[in-house]
Amino acid sequence: MKIKVVIFDADKTLWDHYNISEFEDPIKIINKNEIEDAKGRKLKVFPDVRETLEELKKKGIILGLATWNYPDKTQKILQILDLYKYFDVIVSRDFPYKFIMINEILSELRNKGIKIKPEETMFIDDRRSHFGNVWLYLGNIKCVEMWKDIKCHSEILHMLD
Ligand SMILES: [Mg+2]
Repeated sequence: MKIKVVIFDADKTLWDHYNISEFEDPIKIINKNEIEDAKGRKLKVFPDVRETLEELKKKGIILGLATWNYPDKTQKILQILDLYKYFDVIVSRDFPYKFIMINEILSELRNKGIKIKPEETMFIDDRRSHFGNVWLYLGNIKCVEMWKDIKCHSEILHMLD
């Protein structure tokens, strides 16, 4: 089954920081892929994230984000890093349950008339512990453990068929 939607986790999957909800204003841009908050906390986007998101968009893949963070922080950080534009659906919640967030993303697409089967959905997260509930409640979603199943983001581009 061809993958139509790719859903990413954010912390430790798109960037090296483990919790962007900690970030305090003002946030300063060091370069395209690096920012620093008021308290000196630093975040670096992983090397091939931007290019991979770009390529996925070019292939017509729908992109989602499912992250355990305060929504306002997620939006702000994504906008500062200029990554906001890539995501069709962003679900950022103050609880850790990824299966609920993925369900929200698929429901939102369904409301727009885009029906996606579990087999057509890929979910990428650095924490494998989420996958059990994703399979239990949502079915056969293709779950990929970042840094274990794949070592860099561009590998996703070869896993779509
Ligand atoms: Mg994570």
